Amino acid sequence: MMKKARNKNQDPKKRRLLSEKEEEKILKKARFPQFGFRLYAVAALFAGIALLAICYGNSFTWVEQKRIIKKGKEGDVMHIYTNLNKKELRFLHQKAERLSKRATRGREYTLLTERMLATVLDSAHAGVGIAAPQVGIGKQVIAVQRFDKEGHPFEFYINPTIEYYSPEEKWGWEGCLSVPGRRDTVLRSTHVVVSYRDRNSWKLLRDTVEGYTAVIFQHEVDHLNGKLYID
Ligand SMILES: [Zn+2]
Repeated sequence: MMKKARNKNQDPKKRRLLSEKEEEKILKKARFPQFGFRLYAVAALFAGIALLAICYGNSFTWVEQKRIIKKGKEGDVMHIYTNLNKKELRFLHQKAERLSKRATRGREYTLLTERMLATVLDSAHAGVGIAAPQVGIGKQVIAVQRFDKEGHPFEFYINPTIEYYSPEEKWGWEGCLSVPGRRDTVLRSTHVVVSYRDRNSWKLLRDTVEGYTAVIFQHEVDHLNGKLYID
């Protein structure tokens, strides 16, 4: 019986022809296999997320925007995160993210620099430098008072990194707006090479800095790496 059935199936002339509907169904399945379709959908989703990350990545988060814009007007000082508050200290110990070119074009960036400047110049606790994480903004932005330039201006640096630390070091007194009521001696390189992004051209610029200004750069860049001078 079984042998006979197999023989019948093997004969092409005796095979049943597919109806038009069945043929269409098989073709459709071949063109759009269910597994394949799911794969396309997942790939499209990831591509969408990647595109969003490229467009909006390294921008100020919604919470950061609220801290910069909503809680004060231009020129108003910002709340300084200190080691006295557990939650704030945890934030200060986090690494700051790089800032995108796009983010530096917005109103938030301008307002942030204005408010950081007002904060560091505030007579209640005047300082010589400030890093964005100290005002609750986890982005790589610092302001440094350039004692090596005429008039000692405050300058802002985007995504600064120290590319070279001189092997020559010196002990010096330091204080920090985020560590109120304390001062201590810290060993720092006497000169450093700093690289950062130019806000207008977005070119990577380099600067060799010496003396007290070099100490401020080291202190502020440490903040971006989640490090306080007392750590
Ligand atoms: Zn500090």
